[in-house]
Amino acid sequence: MSKLYFITGSQDLYGEECLKQVAADARVMVDYLNEQLKGTVTIELLPTVETSAICVSDMRAVENDDDCVGVITWMHTFSPAKMWIKGLQILRKPLLHLHTQANEKLPYDTIDMDFMNLNQAAHGDREYGFILARLGVVHEVAAGYYKNPRIIAKIRRFAQVASAIACSKNIRIATFGNNMRDVAVTDGNRLECEIKYGWEVKYWGIGEIAKLAASASEDEVDAKMKEYTDKYTMATDNVEAVREQARYEVAFEKFFAANGITSFTDNFQDLHGLRQLPGIAAQNLMGKGIGFGPEGDYKIAALSTVLMKMAEGREGATGFIEDYTYDLTEGEELELASHMLEVPVSFAASKPEIQVHPLGIGGKEDPARLVFDGVTGDGIQVTLIDMGDHFRIICADIELVAQPKPMPCLPVARIMYRHKPNFEIGTAAWCMAGGAHHSVVSTALTREDIAMFAKLTGTELIVIGDDTKSV
Ligand code: MN
Repeated sequence: MSKLYFITGSQDLYGEECLKQVAADARVMVDYLNEQLKGTVTIELLPTVETSAICVSDMRAVENDDDCVGVITWMHTFSPAKMWIKGLQILRKPLLHLHTQANEKLPYDTIDMDFMNLNQAAHGDREYGFILARLGVVHEVAAGYYKNPRIIAKIRRFAQVASAIACSKNIRIATFGNNMRDVAVTDGNRLECEIKYGWEVKYWGIGEIAKLAASASEDEVDAKMKEYTDKYTMATDNVEAVREQARYEVAFEKFFAANGITSFTDNFQDLHGLRQLPGIAAQNLMGKGIGFGPEGDYKIAALSTVLMKMAEGREGATGFIEDYTYDLTEGEELELASHMLEVPVSFAASKPEIQVHPLGIGGKEDPARLVFDGVTGDGIQVTLIDMGDHFRIICADIELVAQPKPMPCLPVARIMYRHKPNFEIGTAAWCMAGGAHHSVVSTALTREDIAMFAKLTGTELIVIGDDTKSV
C-alpha cells in the first residue's frame, strides 16, 4: 500500500508547551485519517516544521522514500513561510495543502490569546499558500474541518491520484512498430512525455514477439488456453487460431517481465512474423492492468495504465476505447465505441465469447478475439493530446448504456454511450477541443479525479458535461 507523509507547520515563538500541543494535535489528526483511509493509504507524521532545516529534512524524507507517493501539509499555528522555501524546492511529489483546524468549533466562552495563537490556520495557511503560489508549486488544497466526510473523500482522492502519478513516473511503454502511417493524433513528442510524465517510450520490432511466440512451449500454450477457457466461452471451432493468440500472450508476458514493461502498442501495418493481429492476447493483458494503445498510440497506452492505477480498489471498469460510429436519431443519439479487435475485457457486462472472424485490413489470418456487450452506468471519457507546445487533457462526462438492440453481425466487443449535456454540444465540444478518437473510458473515475491529476501534473484540462452550455 502506498504512503503519504504529513507535515505540520509551526514556529518556536509561542514556547515549548505550544509545540508539544501542536505535535499532539497532529498525531490525533493523523491517527484519525489513518483510521478513515484504511485500505487506501497509510499516513506517517514527520517532525513539526519550526525551522528551515527541519523543513528540508522532512522534504528529503518525502523524496527519498520510494513507498511515499505524496505529502500533506497543515499550518497549525502561524509558520513564517520563508522557512518553507528550501524544503519546497526539494519537493517533487504531489502536495496536498490541508487547510483545517484541530478544533471544529470556536470555544466562545473560554477563548483567549493562547488559544488563538495555537489555532491559527486561518493565518498560517494563508502565509503558506502565498509561498506555494510565489514558488509556483503545483498542489491541491482541501479546506474544511478534517473530520468532515468531504475532506476525507478529498484526501482519499489525493492518495489515489498521487499513486497514479507515482505509477506514471515508472511507466515503460514497448512500442512494437511505429505509429500507423498518416495518423496525426496518435503521434507527438515522446521526449516531452518522458520529461513531463515519466513515460519511457521504447521501440522494439514486433519480430521480438514473433520469436518468443515461436519458441513458446506446448505446455505454456496449454496453460494460457486453460486461462482463456476458464474465463471465457469458446465459441469457435478454429482452436488453432486461438492457440496462436495464446502464443502471443505468452510471448508478451515474457517480454514484459524481462524488460519491465507496463504498457505496449502494436500496429496492424507492422506484424512481420505474426500470423494474426493480437486480439484476445491484447484484450486479456489489458484485463490484468497492462496499458495498451493500438496503431502505435503510446500516449493512450500510458494514460490507460495511469488511470487503471488511479481506479484501483474502486468499483467499475477502466480501459482504452475508440470512438467508432453513431446512432443519430434526433434526441436519442448514441455512440457505438469499439475497436477492430482490442476492446479491454474489463468492459464486459457478461462472460465474453472467444470468436474468430476475418479482419478486413492488415492482410493477415483471421484473428481470435473476445466479443461481448459493454457495462453500463455513469462514466467519463478521457484523452490526452499533444498540442505542440503543451499537452491537453479532455474529460467528458458520459452515460454508458445497454445497446438498444442486439448486433449479431458485429464481430467485436463494444460499449455504447450517451454524450452530455447532449449529443450536439458534447461531441462538438470534443471535436473543438481537438479530442482524439482514442481515449480511456472509465465507470470508476470521475472528472474530479482527472481534474486533480491535471492540476498536480500541470496539464491543461478541458471538461465537458452537463455544465457545458455552448461550444
Ligand atoms: Mn484505432
